[in-house]
Amino acid sequence: MKQQKVNVSFEFFPPKNEGAISSLWNNINRLEPLKPRFISVTYGAGGSTRENTHDLVKQIKKKTNLQPAAHLTCINSTKEEIEFIANDYWISGIKHIVALRGDVPTHNNNVKSDFKYATDLISFLRKKHDFEITVSAYPEIHPDSNSIEQEYDVLKKKIDLGATKAITQFFFDVEYYFKFIDGAIKRGIKIPIIPGILPVTNCERTIEFAKKMNCKMPTKLKNMFKGLDSDQETRKLVAATIAYDQCDKLISGGVKDFHFYTLNRADLSFAICHILGVKPKADK
Ligand code: FAD
Repeated sequence: MKQQKVNVSFEFFPPKNEGAISSLWNNINRLEPLKPRFISVTYGAGGSTRENTHDLVKQIKKKTNLQPAAHLTCINSTKEEIEFIANDYWISGIKHIVALRGDVPTHNNNVKSDFKYATDLISFLRKKHDFEITVSAYPEIHPDSNSIEQEYDVLKKKIDLGATKAITQFFFDVEYYFKFIDGAIKRGIKIPIIPGILPVTNCERTIEFAKKMNCKMPTKLKNMFKGLDSDQETRKLVAATIAYDQCDKLISGGVKDFHFYTLNRADLSFAICHILGVKPKADK
């Protein structure tokens, strides 16, 4: 059977120290030959990590043939700060923004924020420049939302304001994704909603994060990691198998685009892409 053409994108986070920088570039360089549609760089909660995002996005643009997308969160930011960043990206040739609210800080009462939601950020950005805007979507409902209806309403608002693509929070049970897409179609939502794929290497940490983000992790999947706490190599093999199985089911349901949360490690995403038929040109 002829393999379907699959498109991929990859997400990285900015390195926190000098040591992590060269490792990150090795990982970016490893994935570049797969010709991703774009690679995105996350934006941290504050201070120097934010600067690191700006630097990394601009370096990717300068040093590679990749199309970078800059994540930008608006909570805890003033209009002036966002305007400065937006202008700086625009003149640096960075025209794709993943526009987000960010997590509301729980124990900092000094938050000075001119924006309440991602929708406020999108409308601000679109007034400044003709950015391509990608947004978040939550098939299992964002912890701050009251219902799935709210998720669709917010997504529709984002589209009306100019968002042309959404990437989902990671999920493990593909049925949540398919149900979300069915609901979106019924409500007239037409933009691509790209599944966010998280290859799990640290099961404990993923369970914790998944709980916080409202993502259900099937017991069957948790059991696959049992007894592997001190066996990183086997954990990686298991992770690749699980993520491939997930992608395969999504492909069977008609999905052609995938966004990989790489956690700054190319190996697993590279392996999964290889099985999906996304390979460097010479290997085809
Ligand atoms: P929003 O879309 O603004 O939604 C937040 C809540 O407010 C929801 O409950 C929504 O229903 C409600 N809401 C939204 N708009 C309105 C409105 N107009 N009126 C009333 N209610 C509204 N976090 C980071 O810190 N850095 C990153 O780089 C980052 N990248 C991410 C990438 C992806 C693909 C995803 C899925 C998440 C990412 N996150 C990141 C996490 C994200 O910041 C958190 O999930 C955050 O809590 C919500 O941000 P949002 O943009 O999804 O929020």
